[in-house]
Amino acid sequence: MPLSSPESAADAAYRKLRQMLSCGELVPGQRLSQSRLGRQIGCSPMPVVEAMRRLESDGLLVKQARKQARVRRLSEQDLEGLYLLREAIETVTARLAARRSTPEETRAIQGLAQDYERLREERLETGEADVAIHRHIAECARCPLLKEELDRLMLIDQTAGRSLELREDREGHPHSHRALVQAIVDHDADSAEYFMKKHIQDGHAEVRRFLAAQSVRPRRSRRASRDEA
Ligand SMILES: [Zn+2]
Repeated sequence: MPLSSPESAADAAYRKLRQMLSCGELVPGQRLSQSRLGRQIGCSPMPVVEAMRRLESDGLLVKQARKQARVRRLSEQDLEGLYLLREAIETVTARLAARRSTPEETRAIQGLAQDYERLREERLETGEADVAIHRHIAECARCPLLKEELDRLMLIDQTAGRSLELREDREGHPHSHRALVQAIVDHDADSAEYFMKKHIQDGHAEVRRFLAAQSVRPRRSRRASRDEA
């Protein structure tokens, strides 16, 4: 994309850096150099500075005085806050989606849930497919502010998931998607809210079990501390 003005260049840099966080090209704890990031994404340092400032206010980067920004590494308390926020937002998006989704949209949710289950049966990566279901439900809720906030939280969740080496091969996960999706298809708002709440709480419980069972060993932590972007 051509970077024609400082403002649009900052937008492009912001989108590109979010993409790099989402796909794991930038990992939790990694130190970020503005000039090197600028070279990587093909723009001058100023738009990168602006994009990094926005990512800091999104909660994705942290910066201490006089130090380089780093990709945020979540504490156990941060994860609790993340899941509580997701629960608050997504019980509402599920309720609204059950009320407002069109037949075409409910078919799309069913298709995304099938994609997720197929990937899981084939023991392939399901993280992106899971995010797609939750984002589509938020889209069907027709409340842009909720969707924007959820996008931010999902990006933090994806990054945190990688840092904890979480796996999506949990037994209860696809079943709770199925009940949730069926409730939306049936336009049953109470059940949609109930099953979404359960789904998010199950996810949080799994993270807590994981943290209790293992010492937290961020994936590629050695590489992250060695390599700067
Ligand atoms: Zn899910």
